[in-house]
Order: sequence, then C-alpha cells, then structure tokens
Amino acid sequence: MKIIVCVKQVPDTSGKVAVNPDGTLNRASMQTITNPDDLNAVEAALALKDTTGCQVVVVSMGPPPAEGMLREVLARGADEAYLVSAREFGGSDTFATSQIIAAAIHRIGVGEGDIVLCGRQAIDGDTAQVGPQIAEKLHIPQVSYVADIQMDGSTVTCKRILEDGYMTVRTQTPCLLTCIKELNTPRYMSVPGIVGCYDKPLTVLNYEALKDEPLIEVDTIGLAGSPTNILTSFTPPQKGAGMMLEGDGKETCEKLAGLLADKHII
Ligand SMILES: Cc1cc2nc3c(=O)[nH]c(=O)nc-3n(C[C@H](O)[C@H](O)[C@H](O)COP(=O)(O)OP(=O)(O)OC[C@H]3O[C@@H](n4cnc5c(N)ncnc54)[C@H](O)[C@@H]3O)c2cc1C
Repeated sequence: MKIIVCVKQVPDTSGKVAVNPDGTLNRASMQTITNPDDLNAVEAALALKDTTGCQVVVVSMGPPPAEGMLREVLARGADEAYLVSAREFGGSDTFATSQIIAAAIHRIGVGEGDIVLCGRQAIDGDTAQVGPQIAEKLHIPQVSYVADIQMDGSTVTCKRILEDGYMTVRTQTPCLLTCIKELNTPRYMSVPGIVGCYDKPLTVLNYEALKDEPLIEVDTIGLAGSPTNILTSFTPPQKGAGMMLEGDGKETCEKLAGLLADKHII
C-alpha cells in the first residue's frame, strides 16, 4: 500500500503581499510555506503509515527551491519525494498542472490499495481544481472536502463536509481524496527526522522524464499550452473603516436608521 501526497509550495500570504507593476504576484520577494491543507494531507498519510506501515510518497511541482519544502515533509516522516520541475512546465494553469502531476503519479505508479491525497485548495491559486482534475486524468474515484478517513482493506470510508452537515462516502482504492484542515492536526518534524531527511530518496522528474508518459500532451503544458489566460489582475480598493454603534437594541436601530436616512438610503 502506498499513499501519494501532492504538496504545493505557496507564498506566505499572512505577511506582506508584494505585487509587480503588471499586477502579477511578486513571488521572489515573499517567504514560502507548505500549503496549509497539504500539511493535513501529509498528516493523514503519516497516521495511516503509523497504523498500516504503508509507504508515504510526496510529489510537488514547482521550481528547484521546492526541494527544501520536500525535505521538510521527509523530516516529518514521509519515505520518498518527487520534485516535478522543468522550464517547459512553468506558467501552467490548473488544467496543465493537473495533467503534469497526473503523469508523474502514473510514472510513480498508483494501483490497487493505493491512495492519492491532495489538499482541498492552495492559498495562492485558490481554485481547488487540481485534485479533482488529477483524479479525472488518472480515471480513479475522488472524494473532496474530506474530514475523516477510515480504511478497511481496499474500502475507504470518508466523512465529507458540506455547508450544512456532512455525508459519508464509501469508495475503493485506488482513489483520490482532497483534505481539509478539520481532518487532523499536523505533527512537527522530529530531530531524528531532520537528521535523516537528507538520506531519503528525492527524485527530480524533468520534461525529458515525463514527455513520453501517456497522460502528457506536449502541446497542453506550460504557459503556451494552458487553455486559460489571465487577462488582467488588480488589487481591490481598500474598504473604508467601519463604524460601531453602541447602545441597546432600540437605541442602536434608531441611530442606524438616522444614519441611513442622512445618506438618503432610506
Ligand atoms: C495562465 C496562468 C498562468 C499561471 N502561471 C503560473 C506561474 O507561472 N507560476 C505559478 O506558480 N502559478 C501559475 N499559475 C497558477 C497555477 O496554475 C496554479 O497555482 C496551479 O495550477 C495550482 O492551482 P491552484 O493553486 O488553484 O491549486 P488548487 O487546485 O487550489 O490546489 C489543490 C491541491 O492540489 C495540489 N496541488 C496544486 N498545485 C500543486 C503543485 N504545483 N504541486 C503539487 N501539488 C499541487 C495540492 O495538494 C493542493 O492543495 C498560473 C495560472 C494561470 C491560469
């Protein structure tokens, strides 16, 4: 049994977000972190490893510095890592990204008993499209918004969070699950994990390694092959400061009605 976890390196948007004059994100000037939902996916894989002894493999598509993030995930307890990295893959939209990652997973091998885990959403692109698209391309079942995973042989039972409740979905391996933060609390790296992470295998899959994979179509990868284009991007204008009304219910309503009347809204 093998669990393949897709992990994305993202800009730390909790700090200052820098934007280039053309409106694109100035990634070079920002700190990077592991996408938060992906740490929940890693923790779910490591918890299954604790109980079943399965192998945990992490995959990331990104520039060469993403190796540092992969080493950190190896230090948390993953067994093996793959960095999918090539100039030809740069500028890929979600369609192209999921095609390339699906090809990498196909190359690593996903079969009976195996699970692919993704985060629900990356905090930079924010589309939540990549996980479901990978499942479609690999022709395996998918369950999104997963907050609990139970394994019984090749049967996987998931608690899937909805806006107003949850549903229980049962499926078979191989399958892909997208994980949310309610699933668990990610563990920290251990000291022996940090010491040993450089002895664990990390393979770089470049364009040459993947171009002949059956899932790759060379004219639909990278910026030129991506079917979506960003026509314009901008920073929305800052909202003005809000106003707090003090007093009991009646008093507050009267003040609010007065303010709205002054502005000729009512
Ligand atoms: C025209 C265009 C050009 C773009 N150019 C660039 C660019 O030059 N550089 C750039 O960084 N982005 C670029 N993007 C954004 C890029 O397409 C998305 O960030 C990427 O496809 C992932 O989508 P997302 O962030 O919405 O991920 P989501 O779909 O929200 O991610 C869901 C989950 O999928 C997995 N996942 C997503 N991406 C990866 C990854 N790379 N590796 C491993 N797992 C992953 C993770 O588990 C993640 O939690 C571009 C987008 C467009 C439309």
